[in-house]
Amino acid sequence: MLQRDIQEVLITEEEIQEKIAELGAVLTEDYQDKFPLAIGVLKGALPFMSDLIKRIDAYIELDFMDVSSYGNATVSSGEVKIVKDLNASVEGRDVLIIEDIIDSGKTLNYLVELFKYRKAKSIKIVTLLDKPTGRKVDLKADYVGFLVPDAFVVGYGLDYAEKYRNLPYIGVLKKEIYSF
Ligand code: 5GP
Ligand code: MG
Ligand code: MG
Repeated sequence: MLQRDIQEVLITEEEIQEKIAELGAVLTEDYQDKFPLAIGVLKGALPFMSDLIKRIDAYIELDFMDVSSYGNATVSSGEVKIVKDLNASVEGRDVLIIEDIIDSGKTLNYLVELFKYRKAKSIKIVTLLDKPTGRKVDLKADYVGFLVPDAFVVGYGLDYAEKYRNLPYIGVLKKEIYSF
């Protein structure tokens, strides 16, 4: 049903799961002697976070933050606002931010600055997707799943107007879906 709206599958379910196993192994190593606070950026990071944490064999605490910058448009407004803040304090903690995609970098830049201000001990970023051509601020993720071209992608957490987050793969929508 959802598949009829998809022009092309960019990253298959199998490729995603394989990559998550690799990232999980690296994170297991890097956080072996720590107790990081893993912060999922809602709602897009939810499927990635859910699968990734099961591949990290170390103590981790989970928390969530919801920030908005996009509304229903496919281009960033550049404005970031907190919709839901953390329950935990980041002070003195090793923070691992879990994101679905980095485009302009503004969302994560805002979060990194916020967590620095709140005195996190360390701040690292793991993102499933990175769109380097979209970057507007100087921001690099510490762990990246896949580089994606400058196209609007959906699935595996990523939405268009709140739809398609539940697709198990990453794809590109047919043009007629958003040009009306
Ligand atoms: P940034 O602040 O880096 O420009 O954008 C980050 C957020 O914008 C992502 O967390 C995601 O919600 C949204 N975004 C950026 N690029 C895409 C895209 O290609 N597809 C979708 N569905 N969302 C995107
Ligand atoms: Mg996101
Ligand atoms: Mg969105």
